[in-house]
Amino acid sequence: MNNPGYSDLGSMQDWDLRVTHLLDHAAREYGHREIVTRWADGSETRTDWAGIRRDALKMTQALRAAGVRKGDRVATLAMNHSRHLVSWYGAVGCGGVLHTINPRLFDDQLDYIANHAEDKVLLYDAVWQGVVDRMKSRWTSIEHYICFDSADHAPAFEDWIGAYDGDTTWDTGDERDPCMLCYTSGTTGHPKGVLFEHRSTMLHAMTGVTPNFFDLDSRSVMLPVVPMFHAASWGLPWAGTIPGIKFVYSAVNDPAVLCDLMKREGVTHSAGVPTVWLAMFNYLDSVGQDVRDVGPLKTAIIGGSAAPKFMIERLMANDVRVAHAWGMTETSPIGTTGAYPWDWDQMEPAAQVELVQKQGRPAFGVELRCVDLDDPERELPRDGVTSGALQVRGPWVIKRYFKAAEDAVGTDNWFDTGDVAVIFPDGTLQLTDRTKDVIKSGGEWISSVELENAAVGHPAVAEAAAIGIYHPRWDERPMLIVVKKDGAEVTGAEIRDYLGGQVAKWWLPDAIEFVDEIPHTGTGKISKKDLRERFRDYKLES
Ligand code: AMP
Repeated sequence: MNNPGYSDLGSMQDWDLRVTHLLDHAAREYGHREIVTRWADGSETRTDWAGIRRDALKMTQALRAAGVRKGDRVATLAMNHSRHLVSWYGAVGCGGVLHTINPRLFDDQLDYIANHAEDKVLLYDAVWQGVVDRMKSRWTSIEHYICFDSADHAPAFEDWIGAYDGDTTWDTGDERDPCMLCYTSGTTGHPKGVLFEHRSTMLHAMTGVTPNFFDLDSRSVMLPVVPMFHAASWGLPWAGTIPGIKFVYSAVNDPAVLCDLMKREGVTHSAGVPTVWLAMFNYLDSVGQDVRDVGPLKTAIIGGSAAPKFMIERLMANDVRVAHAWGMTETSPIGTTGAYPWDWDQMEPAAQVELVQKQGRPAFGVELRCVDLDDPERELPRDGVTSGALQVRGPWVIKRYFKAAEDAVGTDNWFDTGDVAVIFPDGTLQLTDRTKDVIKSGGEWISSVELENAAVGHPAVAEAAAIGIYHPRWDERPMLIVVKKDGAEVTGAEIRDYLGGQVAKWWLPDAIEFVDEIPHTGTGKISKKDLRERFRDYKLES
């Protein structure tokens, strides 16, 4: 029976979850909170949230005058800086869809994604002028080129927006409208576009500031090293507005510059892939300092690939909390974070490190499960032992790739991440491999990632990659490919001995090859595809 008056009970106001509310809020409540940029030429500029909003409104006017209409894609090819931040909000503010392009992709990928996205405008840094010159004749849809920091080649950003007064309003519409497009690294086939909505982005941002996630409050000073062109910069440009944090940007990734900025600007939070932290350690060692010497750093957000044990230990020994996050472009991108469990303070330091090495627990809204690698219908127990294909679902998880004919998920919305993982009874996730990289030996799975992580713990090893090599009896056996540290000497037998103390005997590589360099993808991950190709005809000694 209908409950009379029921429909009147929900009497709250309409307020669409659109990301322009974020900037309005930051400008209104934290208008004078600074946004600092250290540019590639060494100069520094300061603006604030009110300034970012003013410029984003001007850019909205400039884009409208350039003919950008609702849903049109506005692309950027740029490092981290305040003008890039302006352009995120300016692009969505005029109703457009922000498309951040990774300048380090290969030409064929750059060609494919800008044309597939049908980008109409491109804003770029002068440092990428060479990419623009090379690609211009191949990019068929781009009508306007705006350079962020030079007037030599294209209209310069400040002049372009400077022609407007900012006296306008943001585009309005449905909260399910798209706001941002990011392409995935695409280790196989063409890159795929992931189209975020205003609503999904807002929910991700609102969760992002919470203590279990990025742990941001109004005192936070964040230096994001994660590029604004990769995986939505982990959502930080959106989330940072909620408590009105101070952003410190560097348009170059030189560890000396980053450490100097951290110290001078009082950085409390930073976020980046493990190689960023490694470069910082190497720099600090070279100048006889440690992490606590670079200022009040409190939280290190590490993701993109597994944070190695020595990195976690060193940061924690310097009183830095390590928020180890897992996610992917398809999850906006955060799926799990290293949230402290309730009994954290009672745990022994070694147990804390062991826990942080795992990929954390799901953020509110995200559900995880593992299914059998050979039988995706069979859900696996959360016993901390049984590994399987990791699936995810939730309000900021992809349903369908941009322009794809079919959904990327099954009927229950579970999205197959391509990762192999174990889930523990308390919900902690531990990634063990990628489904394509896991090595199958005699019907049992060997984690290439665990072998690599163990190998890089050896003092002479700079980088290591493990791949499966055909074996007539075992199907596949692991091969370890190693880059030695500069000036270091080590033999395959020594590395094998070292690994023997850390992994099961049957996991030990049957071959260890030394190379000068390991190939990487455009997003800096080890390209196993190239390694497999290079060692395709490799014959293992029996
Ligand atoms: P991308 O979409 O380019 O950011 O790549 C996402 C992939 O990076 C995931 O599917 C994982 O394979 C890997 N990844 C992300 N975070 C982590 C992490 N904390 N530990 C291990 N692998 C990770």
